[in-house]
Amino acid sequence: MLMSLGGLEVKVEKNVALAFLVMAVIFAIVTLIVGAISGDISQFTAWDVIWVTMAAAAFHFVLQAVHLIGHAIAAWTTGYQMSRMWFLYAFAMTLYPRDEPPIPARLHIRRSLGGPIAFGIALIIVFWLWSNVQDATWKVCYLTSFMLFEAILLFFVSSIFTDGVMFIVRKQWLPSEVPSA
Ligand SMILES: [Zn+2]
Repeated sequence: MLMSLGGLEVKVEKNVALAFLVMAVIFAIVTLIVGAISGDISQFTAWDVIWVTMAAAAFHFVLQAVHLIGHAIAAWTTGYQMSRMWFLYAFAMTLYPRDEPPIPARLHIRRSLGGPIAFGIALIIVFWLWSNVQDATWKVCYLTSFMLFEAILLFFVSSIFTDGVMFIVRKQWLPSEVPSA
């Protein structure tokens, strides 16, 4: 599926649906194991387990979108815009025009920082949510715990590693044809 939003293409591969289902199944297995150990399982209904785990899986893609939107906004402020957001399996990537002119390192770094900043904000919101619902029903507790786990994991993988460490290792502010994540 390919959409265009004011010059920015958003491409979502069909395999995203597969990744979503795999994640929902993994969350369901974890829910059942944790439920069995904690005793919460006595309160579970099949429908509740399904919606909690599907919502947790969907949140992964919300986080990925927030990450890419952060890069897109940062790119927009530099004047060197992103050309495409690309979602495949559980991953999300940003692509910039192949024919774009050499860009000052300062602006390259700003584009790269957009993702971690957006992610940092998302992480704070999710942490706040998680820490405020600990007396709620199991559904809310499990869902917000999954959300916090995803936000922390993706923050480290996408922001600290890909946008931070790899950005420095690969010297991505130098002109290159390599699409950055
Ligand atoms: Zn990024």
